[in-house]
Amino acid sequence: MFANGLSYLAIPGPSVMPDRVLRAMHRAAPNIYTGELHDVTRSLIPDLRSVAQTDHSVAIYIANGHGVWEAALSNVVAEGDTVLVLATGRFCIGWGEMAEGLGAHVETIDFGNSDAIDLAQVEAALRADTGGRIKAVLTCLVDTSTGVLNDIKGVRAAMDAAGHAALLMCDCIASLGCDEYRMDDWGVDVTVAASQKGLMTPPGIGFVWFNDRADAVREAMPRVSRYWDWRPRVEADEYWKYFDGTAPTHHIYGLREALDMIAQEGLEAVWARHAGLAEAIWAAIDVWSSAGPMQINVADKDARSRAVTSLKLDEGQGDALRAWCEDKMGVTLGIGLGRTPASAYFRLGHMGHVNGQMVLGFLGTIDAGLKALGIPHGAGAIEAAARKLADLAVADAGRTQADQAVDQCCG
Ligand SMILES: *Cc1c(COP(=O)(O)O)cnc(C)c1O
Repeated sequence: MFANGLSYLAIPGPSVMPDRVLRAMHRAAPNIYTGELHDVTRSLIPDLRSVAQTDHSVAIYIANGHGVWEAALSNVVAEGDTVLVLATGRFCIGWGEMAEGLGAHVETIDFGNSDAIDLAQVEAALRADTGGRIKAVLTCLVDTSTGVLNDIKGVRAAMDAAGHAALLMCDCIASLGCDEYRMDDWGVDVTVAASQKGLMTPPGIGFVWFNDRADAVREAMPRVSRYWDWRPRVEADEYWKYFDGTAPTHHIYGLREALDMIAQEGLEAVWARHAGLAEAIWAAIDVWSSAGPMQINVADKDARSRAVTSLKLDEGQGDALRAWCEDKMGVTLGIGLGRTPASAYFRLGHMGHVNGQMVLGFLGTIDAGLKALGIPHGAGAIEAAARKLADLAVADAGRTQADQAVDQCCG
């Protein structure tokens, strides 16, 4: 009844594609052999480094997240090698399964679906590996199935405390350009991400960042699959013309625009926007869940992603709410991926091209849905979210004024 108009895809990827990105892609196919496309491709590299906060190498692949999972592993994990998976949801486990498919021996510490990685357990597991069998530790900055945010810097500290030489690999597919991430400062050796979440570009290209330690491990591999080999993909103008086949022409233009948008706003400002919007979402959820069945999946705020939130209702209600929001109001919510009963769960994607009015829009839609479906909930959630955004905006304006005063006085 109220669904016509601009619809909103509030799922955790693909995220909302900015008009600027779509317009940049709306063009005739370019010459792939010479000219502008190569300049644009070359220009992506420093910005891709910046968004992962690394000075090291980045390889671009025509692939989704699953593809770059395999790309990263293929360069450093050979058949018979051991990897340690630190699982906080379905996606970390999926990366481990990918390693299994490559013939690796996979050990998993499963921290469940609502808690972050326990660093003491990681340190103990690595200390116990006296033979140094574990070649790589696989983590997710954010597991999109649960919304758990992990302390990746802390994982590196635990590895160092155990004196273990394994590579630290981090999946940032859900959260690059949303949650704070600093590859080099945090001591991550390999990072993977894809285009369609915080990077606001349609699914189809992915990225593997790797440092010199990881490249030394690559050097010692008995063999690496030709297509996934990161070596020829790095800073090789010749390679970029073809990407082991035709270049992902339109994605290159779309990503160029998306990275410009991130640079114009400033990466730290992008993180702060996501953090503030997440606070408004949590404020609404606190109120809803003060009465009735709703529960946020991650109780500890420090262990919550600012890009995706997983919520639970009673069995069947998650599905019913999703259907209502889409059919009646034009807002699509995410499914309860990897959880049982899946029909109780739903997820909110608030990653990338998202602002205050969009968040208030989907929160208001959920509020209406809870009412229409007769699902009990605390009253005043939208009031609480609006109050939170107002307070944060006032505080930010105060900061900006103070900055300007400093500029004027001491400029
Ligand atoms: C989305 C996602 C993936 C999978 O990416 P696809 O592009 O769907 O293959 C893997 N890991 C995380 C953390 C994700 O959010």
